[in-house]
Amino acid sequence: MDINAVKQAIRDVPDFPKPGILFKDITTAIKNPEIVSFLSKHIADYYRNKGINKVAGIESRGFIFGSILALQLNAGFIPVRKPGKLPAETLKKTYSLEYGEDAVEIHKDAINPGDIVLLHDDLLATGGTALAALELLQELGAKKVYTNFLIELEFLKGIERLKEYTEVYSLIKY
Ligand code: AMP
Repeated sequence: MDINAVKQAIRDVPDFPKPGILFKDITTAIKNPEIVSFLSKHIADYYRNKGINKVAGIESRGFIFGSILALQLNAGFIPVRKPGKLPAETLKKTYSLEYGEDAVEIHKDAINPGDIVLLHDDLLATGGTALAALELLQELGAKKVYTNFLIELEFLKGIERLKEYTEVYSLIKY
């Protein structure tokens, strides 16, 4: 198993969820146990010995490997969710999309000052979602935030918005 084999297993779905978007569907890859095991070990090895004590996953595909990585790194797991889903007091960050805006929320007590956090999502596109999540983590007092994606769509240059604030590692690039 290698990164190229994982790349081959990711399915392209044209015009989902709307016309013009080429959706990178990871379900075809992660139904294979060897891929789940390879990806979780590869990413966890990359981040071991960095003092990470919390992994924050972005709803909803970021929850899949976010929780596996938390287990592998002996870290806690924090959900970063769409508005209105978290039950207790939250902090919210709104960000703009091509048309309109969206937002993410986090529980106010999710982070303790000094936490070293790994922020994870399945895919980096324009970077708006990850940047909003990163700002929430920083506002709550995270000491350092590393950011990981399974997939980066390089042509959208999301990295340019993130690299000033966080070290980014993406496994598969298009
Ligand atoms: P962005 O905020 O533009 O970086 O978008 C990132 C979020 O949208 C991630 O949670 C992705 O799962 C999702 N996303 C954006 N574009 C795609 C795509 N082409 N294929 C799959 N997911 C995508």
